[in-house]
Amino acid sequence: MPDLKAAIVPVTPFQQNCTILWEEPSKRAVVIDPGGEVPRILDAIGKRGVRVERILLTHGHIDHAAGAAALKEALEQAGAASGRGSPATVPIEGPDQRDRFLLEGLETQAGMFGMSGVQNVLPDRWLAEGDEVRVGDQAFVVLHCPGHTPGHVVFVNPGARFAIVGDVLFNGSIGRTDFPYGDHAALLRAIREKLLPLGDDVSFICGHGPGSTIGAERRTNPFVRG
Ligand SMILES: [Zn+2]
Repeated sequence: MPDLKAAIVPVTPFQQNCTILWEEPSKRAVVIDPGGEVPRILDAIGKRGVRVERILLTHGHIDHAAGAAALKEALEQAGAASGRGSPATVPIEGPDQRDRFLLEGLETQAGMFGMSGVQNVLPDRWLAEGDEVRVGDQAFVVLHCPGHTPGHVVFVNPGARFAIVGDVLFNGSIGRTDFPYGDHAALLRAIREKLLPLGDDVSFICGHGPGSTIGAERRTNPFVRG
């Protein structure tokens, strides 16, 4: 049974948990939510000796997506230069297409936050509820969990009892919905109807701060409890 490993690289002034996820012993990897500081992400990839096959995005916010285009370009150039059979294309997958307006507005968001080196990006593949994404040979199911953004997706590996939940659910909190496009009721519904049923023993990495388990949040998170 292959093993999943994760390394978290907090990026951007928002300390967003860019996550490198890979399979052992194959070292086939994905990078989830490369929001920026691409050289640090590349350094972390190099230190683990993993081969990145795709980039996954949970949603279109700047701290999650703004480095995706630059990371893709850097990985493809490195792959082409190595001549070791590394993939020459590194597709970007996700989020749901309802976040298109955010991905097309990254450069505008960057101006508001005084961030530089940001590029708009569109994925090679939009994701939808029930789709599957792969980390090496391991399948992750895609759940559409709107509310924080309209097209937010979550990645779940039922066998490994593990999920990547982006800015839907946090350790002790939930995602912000005070944006013009935010929907607090939809976010709570997604948490109650899609995340809690995954089971108390499912652990998760979230977009900011320490991870947790579904069970701990069910019992103690004031936004979720009851
Ligand atoms: Zn966000």
